Amino acid sequence: MKKIAFFSIPAHGHTNPMLPVAKELVQRGNTVRFYSFGEFEEKIRAVGAVFINCDSFLPELNRKEEAGLKNVSTTEMTIQDIRITLGMDEFLNQEFASFQPDVVYTDSVCFWGKLSAWKHHVPMVVSTSTFAFNRMSSQYMKHSPKEMADIIFGLPRISRELKKLRSYGYPVKSALSLVQSDNATDSVVYTSRKFQPYAESFSDHYIFVGPSLFSTLLPDKKKDRPLVYISLGTVINDRPDFYRKCIDALKDRNIDIIISCGNGMDQRVLGKLPDHIKVFPYVDQLTVLSKADVFITHCGMNSVSESLYMAAPMILYPQTGEQYAVAKRTAEIGAGLLLGDDSSGGIRKAVEEVLNDSAYADAAAACSSDFRSCPGTAGAAEFIENAPHLTE
Ligand code: UDP
Repeated sequence: MKKIAFFSIPAHGHTNPMLPVAKELVQRGNTVRFYSFGEFEEKIRAVGAVFINCDSFLPELNRKEEAGLKNVSTTEMTIQDIRITLGMDEFLNQEFASFQPDVVYTDSVCFWGKLSAWKHHVPMVVSTSTFAFNRMSSQYMKHSPKEMADIIFGLPRISRELKKLRSYGYPVKSALSLVQSDNATDSVVYTSRKFQPYAESFSDHYIFVGPSLFSTLLPDKKKDRPLVYISLGTVINDRPDFYRKCIDALKDRNIDIIISCGNGMDQRVLGKLPDHIKVFPYVDQLTVLSKADVFITHCGMNSVSESLYMAAPMILYPQTGEQYAVAKRTAEIGAGLLLGDDSSGGIRKAVEEVLNDSAYADAAAACSSDFRSCPGTAGAAEFIENAPHLTE
């Protein structure tokens, strides 16, 4: 029986895949203490983990910082991550002294989890909610000029923050060493070896466990007419312009449409909609995907994995470099079509192509079988219990 400290950033896409792993570990008799934030409390307690509320360590943001985070600015996220780590330093020193975890299981971009495992010399396993990115696989990313400028001009600010970290006793070489996957770190990746780009470039310190989900549902596509599901995830989803174009593209078709638009948008801006188009702030995505024939997605890793798990082919509309990597790989295996033209006409054409060419659905179904044959949450739990994994 082990004592395991879980750490994640306050984001659904990073926290969600850790929950089934926590549940499995608890069921196997381990103690899981999950350092997280109020909005995840219920979900965390539901899996039997001890929830530790870290809300008080989230910094108050000024307008510019908030806008940077909303636009998923790498610089702003790195700086906030470091500031939270510094703010939690004393608290985590005490927690490590009293809880004395045997293993730390931390999200790959949750700096306070990684840095405190290093500082307190506790074996660490990294939870990788996207692809594992090393020098090879990051070639799949395509950064926009805006993202590149953000990274380059942010470097001096980041290097000042790194200096502060070192002065608190955190052994950190560079910002890259905090985020990039390396072959010496025990890592759980929630995809299959087949879907991971350049899987052969990752060492035995990696386990590819397949999507980490609670659902026991199987794909079931039998119904009278096709279902198209549209979601841009939970972070940058305030896009009434895009939902409107999708509605224009599909409203006259004999198709059911479900849109998940997030909590931040007033649905009334989309006007009165016919019965076959339903808009919700949040849906049970796995259930919807089990029935969906096409998923128009922003290509968050979780959304794409869930879609493939439920054998739903996709129209790929990535918004960030990382999402582009996921989109590129999905198109490569034939399970999705990259949306080049996001006008109404372009969306209509793309939906028709994916609905009419069964090769997309067949590729998604093949990937669903591959995912379902992975080691899963039981494999992840065993890997965490047995950390550290020593190099031969
Ligand atoms: N999600 C959901 N219902 C919704 C929208 C999203 O359950 O209506 C879940 C989805 O199943 C996935 C997560 O939120 O697990 C989104 O993660 P992803 O990595 O796809 O995108 P992000 O939100 O991090 O951009």
